[in-house]
Amino acid sequence: MKNAVQRRLSRAKELAHDYAYLTSQFRRSKALKRHCTICGYEGFFRSFGFPPRPDARCPECGALERHRLLKLWLDSNANEITGRDVLHFAPEEAMAALFRGLARVYKSADIEKDRADLVLNIEAMEMADGTYSCIVCSHILEHVDDRRALAEMYRVLRPGGVAIIMTPVIEGWSRTYENPSITTPRGRQYHFGQPDHVRYYGADVRERIRGAGFELDEFTAEEPDVSNYALLRGEKIFIARRPN
Ligand SMILES: [Zn+2]
Repeated sequence: MKNAVQRRLSRAKELAHDYAYLTSQFRRSKALKRHCTICGYEGFFRSFGFPPRPDARCPECGALERHRLLKLWLDSNANEITGRDVLHFAPEEAMAALFRGLARVYKSADIEKDRADLVLNIEAMEMADGTYSCIVCSHILEHVDDRRALAEMYRVLRPGGVAIIMTPVIEGWSRTYENPSITTPRGRQYHFGQPDHVRYYGADVRERIRGAGFELDEFTAEEPDVSNYALLRGEKIFIARRPN
């Protein structure tokens, strides 16, 4: 028993040492630093997540990699949001602030009460067709029945409107991995990486989005932006447009 505890402790020390060594190597350099696209902070970001990702969370504004990527996209595509009516699902504050400032109407939505402006189930929205011109759906599709959710987003968008979709994708997989027989939180953690995820998308996530009727564009975290802003390499924003 004692040996098992000692082994765990020494392994934890090893990991902490490796991690501190790696992060200190580039932090020592005065020439190298990251920039926050949202608040303008310059320096290195804090680690975040489990296992911790170095250079993830902005110490000034709290933004993560995906928020900095979205701001980068917005900087050259603000016309997609400016003056539009925006519906934002399960909003993270760092993202909500970006849209609130540009939209004509901004409404947040969540399936739970008291979390947002509207209580809405993305799989079955109690809402008329064509109510919004932009829907923001970040890190939602991997939790829900995505065929129903995508069909509902298409219905609630006006012709010409866009859904801004972000979700983890394993680009090396041609096919999405899901298995409806795995229903327990432990099983989902084991198979899908989080107790409330129901799949890992492969590259065929694009076919699913197009399958709902959308025209699809994508914006990718590439160099030199990845190094400048500490983005996740290859992370995607899917811009799904309901055709006119
Ligand atoms: Zn910041």
